Amino acid sequence: MTDLWNEALQGLQPRLGQETYDLWLRPLTVAAVEGQTIRLRAPSLFMKEWFENHYMEAVLDEIEARTEARYVLDLEVDPNAAELAPEPPPASADPDNAGSASTRSAFVAAEPATPVEVRQVAPPPVGLSERYRFDSFISGASNELAASAARAAADQPGTRFNPLLIYGGVGLGKTHLLHAVGHSLYESDPTRRITYLSAERFMNEFISAVRYNQFDQFRRKYREDCDVLLIDDIQFIAGRDRTMDEFFHVFNALYEAGKQIMVTSDRTPSDMQGMEDRITSRLNWGLVADIKSPDLETRVAILRQKAENDRIAIADDVCVYLAGQVQSNVRELEGALVRVATFADLKGVPITTSFIREVIGETTKERRRTPVTVEAVQKAVASHFSVRIADLKGPRRHKGISRPRMIAMFLARELTGSSFPEIGLRFGGKDHSTVINACKRITALSDEDPELRSAVSQLREHLSSP
Ligand code: ADP
Ligand code: MG
Repeated sequence: MTDLWNEALQGLQPRLGQETYDLWLRPLTVAAVEGQTIRLRAPSLFMKEWFENHYMEAVLDEIEARTEARYVLDLEVDPNAAELAPEPPPASADPDNAGSASTRSAFVAAEPATPVEVRQVAPPPVGLSERYRFDSFISGASNELAASAARAAADQPGTRFNPLLIYGGVGLGKTHLLHAVGHSLYESDPTRRITYLSAERFMNEFISAVRYNQFDQFRRKYREDCDVLLIDDIQFIAGRDRTMDEFFHVFNALYEAGKQIMVTSDRTPSDMQGMEDRITSRLNWGLVADIKSPDLETRVAILRQKAENDRIAIADDVCVYLAGQVQSNVRELEGALVRVATFADLKGVPITTSFIREVIGETTKERRRTPVTVEAVQKAVASHFSVRIADLKGPRRHKGISRPRMIAMFLARELTGSSFPEIGLRFGGKDHSTVINACKRITALSDEDPELRSAVSQLREHLSSP
């Protein structure tokens, strides 16, 4: 049974990264397994609480994905190690409180001896997709400059490529690289405080900080308690005067302190209409790198990787054919593969070029008519089954809710082309394995349950029609 624990951890390791794994998961030991309860020992109270607050859910999901059973993890502090373990200061005893600036950092002692040399371990960066890492990013002529600049910024933050701006059309991997830099910087040094968010979120936080008189906290969070600032889709703030002004000050404070700043945009600084000159000029201080549409070779490599990750069986020549059909952007390419695979799965046929022709013909037509969003899927499913959207996003496991939830996840996957982690996120922050399981379950159930099959196809039709 200890095997189950080890297997689950190993399954999680690629997603959480080596550093997180070594730091927070490996030190836990299995004390006993009683029925569906796994008793674990943590070297300190702090480690126990940190695990419970940050990784417990992911581990349970992983175990559930492997065993189809819900286990309970029961942690105790190792009585022998407790003496050596550093007492966490009161601020870190409640990692839930991580939002407020004064309690953001966790403390662990590098040496148990006194006087204690204290190293601050920052909480893992929030909002980064586990899939968006350097090792899952395929480089080719279209993105080489951007990818190597991102790597350099991750290796030597705050130096040559500061700020780093990556721009390009939609679905070409800008967000992917931004997240990859965040993961990499945190893993090479978990004391780094990494702040990632969209420009829209930045604006909203700024506005509410002003409105609720919490500007000091806002300022501290972005200007002081931040070693790396990653902002997605910076073009969003163009024309929003007060937000631009605030970003300008944040930029200056971080830049002067030698902190790495990286932003993405759908256009070059000079094409950002409504963006203040003092901002565009600063964005040009470091490196501005573009991403173009990938060439055929890169598209094939991306498809192969995606097929492997999602365990989709597709022959090499068929892969090349599909890559030839979808040329504009990677998100559409991935969406096409998912759609083809879903249909092939449902019909129980292999993926062939003629099958692709059938499905893609429909895809492009439908795509043009209506881009389906995860929210639209949730809304349609909730009203079809008379459940609340909050329940679809919530944790309840009652069949009357979990069925519709699984159907919604399945349709979100099929119709929106969003990745498993993305869908999980939009369903109240569930793990990607939960989404994968839901898709598998619904595919399997569609075979045996005509009622469910008809509900799914009604919803699909409803959602795909204009
Ligand atoms: P953007 O932010 O430019 O709109 P994303 O970074 O969201 O695009 O990328 C869209 C999807 O395509 C993501 O799932 C991403 O992982 C994938 N993707 C894009 N470029 C690559 C690449 N070079 N290698 C692997 N996956 C890629
Ligand atoms: Mg993006």
